[in-house]
Amino acid sequence: MLPSIERLLILQDRDQKIRILRLELKNLPAERSSLDANLASGAYRLDAARQKARDVELEKKKLEMEAQARRDSIAKFKNQQFQTRKNEEFQALTNEIKRFEADIEKIEDREIELMEEAERLKGSVGDAEKQHTAVKAHTDRQMSEIAAKIQAIEAQLAALEAERATLSEGIDEDLLYQYNKLFSNKGGLAVVALEHETCMGCHMKLTTQTAVRVRGSKEILNCEQCGRLLYYAE
Ligand SMILES: [Zn+2]
Repeated sequence: MLPSIERLLILQDRDQKIRILRLELKNLPAERSSLDANLASGAYRLDAARQKARDVELEKKKLEMEAQARRDSIAKFKNQQFQTRKNEEFQALTNEIKRFEADIEKIEDREIELMEEAERLKGSVGDAEKQHTAVKAHTDRQMSEIAAKIQAIEAQLAALEAERATLSEGIDEDLLYQYNKLFSNKGGLAVVALEHETCMGCHMKLTTQTAVRVRGSKEILNCEQCGRLLYYAE
């Protein structure tokens, strides 16, 4: 095998590793955002459940006040009934008292409903809290794993890139240019083997003449179909 091909194969191996690592690095922010979004939606659900519970408590308090106001009025009407001598007025007060008592009954029915609702909401707030705590712990773990991963990948990349630079120094400039172009245009595969007169890059058969020259391993040849650099796999 030509020494320059040998060198290019090592370079290609490092470049492929760099490529994979860069892709991994590129996908990590999306992983982070999806974790963030998941956590935020849990927090939102928890807030919504808490808000609902607060609303029910407020309505309960409001109703208690309304019922109390009516009870006070009823006491006042009863007091007025003691003082009046007019039958008509007495009757009118009785009607008011009945109306207010009916109101109180309705309010108390609603209060019972709200108490049941409050109990149910307490359960769902508890569930949402538990779930949120679990998601938060999971997210924290994942986030620190991602941070560690980024650090490791960056260190690996730095080492590979340093190695790549050293390897490149020993390669002819035109050949290196050709290799770089092929590597980025041909899916990270610039130097490929010739097997059974077939290019292992595009899987097309080469002319016998080219195949013979590649086997000779004295010159660098390109695939007639895809242009990749060829070497003979012994
Ligand atoms: Zn080819």
